[in-house]
Amino acid sequence: MTTPETSFPATPEFYFADAGGPMFYFLDDRLDASPAIGGPPTPEPPVVTTTGDRALDVASVRSDFPILGERVNGRPLIWFDNAATTQKPRAVIDRISSFYEHENSNIHRAAHELAARATDAYEDARETTRRFLNAPRVEDIVFVRGTTEAINLVAQSWGRKHLGEGDEIVITHLEHHANIVPWQQISRQTGAVLKVAPVDDRGNLLLDELERLVGPRTKLVAATQVSNALGTVTDAKRIVEIGHRHGARVLIDGAQSIPHMPIDVVDLGADFFVFSGHKIVGPTGIGVLYGAQDALADTPPWQGGGNMIADVTLERALYQDPPNKFEAGTGNIADAVGLGTALRYVADLGIERIAAYEHHLLDYATPRLSAIPGVRIIGTADEKASVLSFVLDGHEPLEVGKALNAEGIAVRAGHHCAQPILRRMGVEQTVRPSFAFYNTTDEIDVFLDVVDRLARGGVGG
Ligand code: PLP
Repeated sequence: MTTPETSFPATPEFYFADAGGPMFYFLDDRLDASPAIGGPPTPEPPVVTTTGDRALDVASVRSDFPILGERVNGRPLIWFDNAATTQKPRAVIDRISSFYEHENSNIHRAAHELAARATDAYEDARETTRRFLNAPRVEDIVFVRGTTEAINLVAQSWGRKHLGEGDEIVITHLEHHANIVPWQQISRQTGAVLKVAPVDDRGNLLLDELERLVGPRTKLVAATQVSNALGTVTDAKRIVEIGHRHGARVLIDGAQSIPHMPIDVVDLGADFFVFSGHKIVGPTGIGVLYGAQDALADTPPWQGGGNMIADVTLERALYQDPPNKFEAGTGNIADAVGLGTALRYVADLGIERIAAYEHHLLDYATPRLSAIPGVRIIGTADEKASVLSFVLDGHEPLEVGKALNAEGIAVRAGHHCAQPILRRMGVEQTVRPSFAFYNTTDEIDVFLDVVDRLARGGVGG
C-alpha cells in the first residue's frame, strides 16, 4: 500500500483546469498572502481573480496545510471530511495570530491606534469578500457566524416583515437542515406555507416541478447550490430566474458551492447568498450574508444592541444602514480577518483550477468505489461536486467510518444534517468522503483499499 507521505514528493500531482486532466508541472508563483511575522502586518495584495493556465501544484499546496502532516492511529492523516469543514493553510493560521499579536482591539476606528488597525483589518476582509463574490457594494456584505445564522437572520427579520398567512416559501428536497428548520419555524410563526421541490432517484433537482410550485403567493425561494449529502449541483441561476419571474425573493445556500466553483452574485442575481468561512479554508464562527441592496434595505435589523445603532434614547433607537444594521454587538473580528486571508488564498490558487482538480478526484474515485462489491453510491446526479456518499452492504455507515478512522482516514458517517434527502434516497445514513484541492488520488487509493478489504471481510468486524 502506498502512503501519501512517501509518494507525494516523488510523484506530485498537477492539474490543468483548462486541459481536462493531469499534465505538467509549472513553478508555483502564487502570491504569499501571509503577513510578515514580528512586525505590523503589511497590507494584503488585492484578490487575484484570474487564474491563467498555471497548474495546481498539489504537493506545494499540501505543504501549506500544517495539519496534513498529522498522524492518526499511526497513519498519515487523510482528510476526507471537507464537506463538514476544511483544513486551514498556514497563511490563515498566521494571519489570526498576527491579528492578536499586533492589531487586537474592538473596532471603533477613532478610539486609538490599535482600534484603527483592527477596524482596517476587519473592513479589508469585508472588501476582500465583496471582491470574491463580485458583489457590487461593500455594504452588501454582512458578517455573521455562518450559513446557519445567515439563513436564520433572513427568516426571522426579512420573513417576519414579509410573510403572512397563506404566503408560500419554496425550498428543495436537497436542503441541509439549516435551510429547512428556519423556514419551518417562520412558517409556524406567520402562517406561511412551506413547499418542497422534488428530486429524481439520482438526486437531480426537478426544476420543472420547482417552477410548478412557484406562484403568485410565493414570497421566497430558498435553495442550495450544492447538496452536502449527495453532491448534487443545482442550476442556481435558473432557480433565481424562476423565483424572480414570479416576484419572489431568492436565497441561495452557498455553504457547499463556495469552495468548489466561482461565485458571481451579480451574474447569479440572488437576493441573498450565504456561506460559512470554515468550508473554504477559513476559520469557524465566521460567515457571510450577501444581500442585494434593495433586499437588505427591505430587511429589518435582526438583533439589537451596540454597533448597529445611529442614535439611542430611552424611548427609541435609530439604526445604521447595512451592513452595521445587522452586526449588533462585538463580532468575530479576528476570524473575519482570517476569512479574508482564506479567500485570497483560494482566489490566488484559482477557483476554476480548484474546481477542475476536484472533479478529477471525483471522476477518479467514483467508478473505483462503485466497483467494490456491495457498495452503492447515494446520489448520482448529472452535475456533482466532490462529495461521494455511499453505503456498503452488511456494514453500518458508522462501522465503515470507524474502520477508515483506524487507518487515519477521516470521513463523515451519519445523516449529514440532511435527513429528508437521505430518506428520499431510501437510506437513513451514509458514509461520506468529500474531497478538497489538497487531496490526492494516492489518498483515494488508500481509502478504496480499506473499503475493499472491509467489503471482502478483511478489516474489522
Ligand atoms: N448548508 C449546507 C449545504 C451545508 O453543507 C451546511 C454545513 O454543512 C450548512 C448549510 C450549515 O453550515 P454551518 O454549520 O457552517 O452554519
